[in-house]
Amino acid sequence: MQQISPAGLSPASSIAIIGGGVVGAANALALACEGYRVTVFEPDDIGAGTSSGNAGGIVTGAVTPTATPGVLRAMPGYVFDQDGAAVLRPAYALKILPWLLRFIAASRPSRVAAIAQALQPLVAGSMQAHLALADVCGARDRIRRVGWLKVYKTAKGFADTALDRELMTRHGVNFSVLTAAQIAELEPHIDPDAYTCGLFQPDSGFVNYPLALSQTYFDGARQRGALHLREKVLEVRPLESGGVAIATGQLTRQFDAVVVAAGAWSKQFASQVGDKVCLDTERGYHISLQSTGADLLQRPVCFPENHCVLSPMHDGISIVSIDELAGLDAPPDYRRIRAILPFARKVLPGVARQTVQREWMGFRPSTPDSLPVIGRSPRCKNVFYAFGHGHLGLTMSAITAQWLANMVSGRTDSVDMTPYRIDRF
Ligand SMILES: Cc1cc2nc3c(=O)[nH]c(=O)nc-3n(C[C@H](O)[C@H](O)[C@H](O)COP(=O)(O)OP(=O)(O)OC[C@H]3O[C@@H](n4cnc5c(N)ncnc54)[C@H](O)[C@@H]3O)c2cc1C
Repeated sequence: MQQISPAGLSPASSIAIIGGGVVGAANALALACEGYRVTVFEPDDIGAGTSSGNAGGIVTGAVTPTATPGVLRAMPGYVFDQDGAAVLRPAYALKILPWLLRFIAASRPSRVAAIAQALQPLVAGSMQAHLALADVCGARDRIRRVGWLKVYKTAKGFADTALDRELMTRHGVNFSVLTAAQIAELEPHIDPDAYTCGLFQPDSGFVNYPLALSQTYFDGARQRGALHLREKVLEVRPLESGGVAIATGQLTRQFDAVVVAAGAWSKQFASQVGDKVCLDTERGYHISLQSTGADLLQRPVCFPENHCVLSPMHDGISIVSIDELAGLDAPPDYRRIRAILPFARKVLPGVARQTVQREWMGFRPSTPDSLPVIGRSPRCKNVFYAFGHGHLGLTMSAITAQWLANMVSGRTDSVDMTPYRIDRF
């Protein structure tokens, strides 16, 4: 087994990746490009889980964490307000309590400022990192630089963005406040009664077929020798010799190193290595409407007052929403996303009569401080982490892969990795 020296893992070493979502696929490609022998353990198709159903935004200005001051006051609404931004299933309340307490702690102004600072390099570099990976696969056209648009109907709705605007300004995000006429120019098919003003980040990107992006990244890795084993990993065991044993239901195999990228299911593997992490899932839903064949939207359009995004995906408009705290095992509850459907049909009259072709739920892998876990285990030098990307896993996947490949191969990075360490919990 290869030991990892400060100079990094030597080329041609074997690396297992647990999880083949967009984060695992991006890491597979970045590590295969370094010359490592990569094996991805993923029981399903590559990218077919949570990474397949998101809104497609590569949001380069997303420096505002999920927990912001005032979240404590909003908590009762999570249980009692059927139209609120988030919902907590009462049966899951006790289980998620430690996560919620940390979430509340993360909403203190000083923490929000520190978290925004740590989010900044991840999101600001996200487009470049995606374009670099896509170039390796000859797939730049999968990523469009069309910007990220939020629209507001009421003065209060817009006033509530004060912190967001302040943080974007502080961190140099390129954004502008749009008038109704400017929104109409960008998105002429939205009912003009649905907004009075907006926020636009022109540098953000959009992927209208996220499943295909993950698969493209993995195909690029496969061309460089990577393997996909359709096996569920049961155990990660560090070996005294320096490598790691990966046990599945079928076999136990040895690798020089492992990257844990199993999204919302990653905690068990960190525990096996002896690392504690605070990770839960914020479940999200979408309803996909049959395509009309027309280009109704140019980009995802976010309606924060109605807690949803309308996204022009490859197979039709998706209505994407809901932040549900109910864990990994509870069955989906489509009632709230269905309740948003009439709003979507009203604001985008082009889909007024389109039939529903899919209802979907996914598991955002969420830490309470909105920051992913990226880096090496403090307990085992051959175990690396790349999970916990929450609301921004598509956005941050490629840059996570870039940073991790630097770390694995021993290149020093200019970024301070302290905020993303697993031992912050
Ligand atoms: C409704 C919704 C909208 C979203 N919109 C956006 C957006 O616009 N922009 C954005 O950046 N992000 C968005 N996100 C977030 C983003 O989709 C996620 O953060 C991202 O998909 C997480 O990727 P992942 O690879 O970490 O996890 P996943 O895609 O969940 O992949 C993890 C993989 O690990 C595998 N796995 C689990 N257990 C094991 C095991 N024991 N052995 C082997 N494999 C295992 C699973 O099968 C799974 O395929 C959205 C999420 C949702 C739900």
